Amino acid sequence: MINIPPIIERITELLNQDTDASVTYAALEARLALEKVCYDRLRQCHDYISHEDLKKWQPNQVVNTLINDVDQHATSTRTLSISRLPSVEGRDPKDEDYVEIGTEVGFDPKLMGKFWNALAKLALHVRLPQSRNDVIPNYGDKEKIKAKVIDVITELRRLSNTTMTFSGIGEEVSFECDCGTKNRRRADLLKEGQVVSCINPECAGSWHVRIDGKDIGFKARLAHIKCEQCAKCNHIPWRSVAAMKYDQVGSFYCDSCEYKNYFKWVLKQVRPEIVLD
Ligand SMILES: [Zn+2]
Ligand SMILES: [Zn+2]
Repeated sequence: MINIPPIIERITELLNQDTDASVTYAALEARLALEKVCYDRLRQCHDYISHEDLKKWQPNQVVNTLINDVDQHATSTRTLSISRLPSVEGRDPKDEDYVEIGTEVGFDPKLMGKFWNALAKLALHVRLPQSRNDVIPNYGDKEKIKAKVIDVITELRRLSNTTMTFSGIGEEVSFECDCGTKNRRRADLLKEGQVVSCINPECAGSWHVRIDGKDIGFKARLAHIKCEQCAKCNHIPWRSVAAMKYDQVGSFYCDSCEYKNYFKWVLKQVRPEIVLD
């Protein structure tokens, strides 16, 4: 778990130096702290979420994905306690004597995102000149930056009361990818049509979620390409094909006859009634 108090101390020291440069540096440190806090929550849930599904996102979006896909209760503060004695049938659980194990302070991803963007806007970009005679300032507005950094410190201080982290609760579904990695997901949070990627960062496997009543299925996203030599249909992970640029040529060896096949993305003319149904 991330140790927040020394970070707060460092940021406060920089604010106290009270120069344009030190306050700008404090804003950078505060922004890094927000990222660390978001990613630390993510790390605890990494068994349930793949690097591929997150890598394009800003920290607040990472946390939103976390809440949507792993733990819908991450926004509320939770305390975990266990009873001192094993439970006895017939006795009301409310009457047990409990010991507190730890608390996770709830987390507002919207607020984190707001702070993260505001710090960059105020402190980490130089203002664009409006005309030829405009002077380009060395730094942003010191007082405005300071006020925002103080807001962030208040939130960091609140979050530093976390003594343990949860990876969520609820029924789990799991399946094995072709690469051998076991993927686990929270059943309640899966949605029809959602795309999930293998949690192995080296693997290109991904699936569409299919929900039929109580049954949850995962349908592999694949490109199907026939071998030029023996006509056998070969399956290629969709993510590796989708990552190719237009006109780039890819290749594969046929599963059955080992003939080397080539393929490429091309622009194709279509009739609207065929593609827009
Ligand atoms: Zn995999
Ligand atoms: Zn073949």
